[in-house]
Amino acid sequence: MRKFKKVIEKLVKVQIKKGDTVVLLSGKDKGKQGRVLVVDYTRHKVTVEGMNNAKKAVRPSQQNQKGGIVDVALPVHISNVKLICPKCSKPANVTRKVMNNKKVRVCKNEKCKEVIDKS
Ligand SMILES: [Zn+2]
Repeated sequence: MRKFKKVIEKLVKVQIKKGDTVVLLSGKDKGKQGRVLVVDYTRHKVTVEGMNNAKKAVRPSQQNQKGGIVDVALPVHISNVKLICPKCSKPANVTRKVMNNKKVRVCKNEKCKEVIDKS
């Protein structure tokens, strides 16, 4: 079990970063794409803008003086999303390589193989 957790942690770090565009692989928003707002590396969850929304009751606050029901994006498990390669615009498996002493992600799609991160 511990080994499995480590693998997932590695997967999370390699695959997804804040600001990435991802596609949802399961749930009610399956197939939809959105931008990653938060990556929770310890719980292996990502929050994607506009995805997996749930209604939440909020108390009145300074930002929202009336309170009431708002839509909030719930985190989804990392295994339920896949990175969209910004170069080929397709769901991508990524690998890592070192460029200029920096680890960058590289798209593994056939015909693409482009570096995803700016170095
Ligand atoms: Zn690509």
